[in-house]
Amino acid sequence: MDFKNITVAGSGVLGSQIAFQTAFKGFNVSVYDINDEVIAQAKERISKLKQRYLEDLQATEEEVDQAYNRLSFHSNLADAVTNADLVIEAIPEVVQIKVDFYEKLAKVAPAETIFATNSSTLLPSQFAEATGRPERFLALHFANEIWKNNTAEIMKHPGTNTDVFDKVISFAKAIGMVALPLHKEQPGYILNSLLVPLLDAAQMLLVKEVADPETIDKTWMVGTGAPLGPFAILDVVGIKTAYNITQAKAEKTGDPAFKKLAELLKTEYIDKGKLGRETGEGFYTYPNPSFISPDFLK
Ligand code: NAD
Repeated sequence: MDFKNITVAGSGVLGSQIAFQTAFKGFNVSVYDINDEVIAQAKERISKLKQRYLEDLQATEEEVDQAYNRLSFHSNLADAVTNADLVIEAIPEVVQIKVDFYEKLAKVAPAETIFATNSSTLLPSQFAEATGRPERFLALHFANEIWKNNTAEIMKHPGTNTDVFDKVISFAKAIGMVALPLHKEQPGYILNSLLVPLLDAAQMLLVKEVADPETIDKTWMVGTGAPLGPFAILDVVGIKTAYNITQAKAEKTGDPAFKKLAELLKTEYIDKGKLGRETGEGFYTYPNPSFISPDFLK
C-alpha cells in the first residue's frame, strides 16, 4: 500500500465513519472540520462509533481504542494535510462550498497528495479545475454505515490519471471495502443508477393503485430471488428522503404522478410518524416486518 496518512475533510455523518473505518484498518487519519466546536462534536460522534464496531463486527475494546488513537483532529486545513497521501472530502453537498474548499486545499496540500470526493450526486469533473490537480482527483463514494455496507465506488473523471485510479482502488480494498471501479463518470454511480429507477417504478405502481406495497415487493422477491423488495428498501432509505427526492422530481419535471406520490408519502406516512425502519414503522412495521416471514413468499 502506497498510502499511510489520510485526511478526511468534513466530520459529519459520512466523514466520521470514513475516518474511523480508515483508522480501524491501521492508517493514520487527520480529521478536518471548520472550527473547534465542530471538532469537539466530531470526537463525540466518532467515539460513539466504537460501540457499533464492538456490536456489529465483534471488534475488541483494544482494537477500537487503538483505532481512535490513530486519529488526530484539526480545524486548521494546512495542519490537517501536511503529510497527507490522500484527502477524502466529505463536506456538504453544495457546489460552491466544495469549490471554495478545493481552491483552499489546493494551496496548502503537498503537490503529490491525491484528492477524492465522497459526493453522492455531483460529478468530479465539476471540481477538477478547482483542485488545481485534475489528474490526481477522482470520486471515492461510500455508503452510510460503511463498516457494514462496505461498497466503495471509485469513479474517474476524464482527466484522472490511471495510476491514481489504481492506487485509490487498492486503498479502498485496504480499508475493507468492496472496490467497485467506474471507468466513466456516471451520475448516481452504479448503485443508484440501478436502485433509483427500481424504487421509482415501484412507487409509481403504488400511486397508480396497480398493487399494494406487499404485493409489489413479493413480486420482486419471488421473481428475482432478492431478499428485499423495493418498499422494504425504501424503509431503510427513510420515507423523508424518498419524499424529498420525489418532491424535487415533481418540481423539476412537473409530472403530476410525482406530485401525487409526494402527497401520498407526506399524508399517509410522514404526517403519521411512519418514517421507515428508524422509527419502527414505514411501509412495514419493525422489528418483525411481514416480509421476513417464510409465508410471505407463498
Ligand atoms: P453532514 O452534513 O453530516 O457533514 C458535513 C460536514 O462538513 C459537517 O461536519 C460540516 O461541519 C463540515 N463542513 C461544512 N463546510 C465545510 C468546509 N468548508 N470544510 C470542511 N468541512 C466543512 O454531511 P454528510 O451526510 O456526511 O455528507 C457529506 C458528503 O458525503 C456529501 O457530499 C454527501 O453527498 C456524501 N455522502 C453522504 C451519504 C449519507 O448517507 N449521508 C452517503 C454517501 C455520500
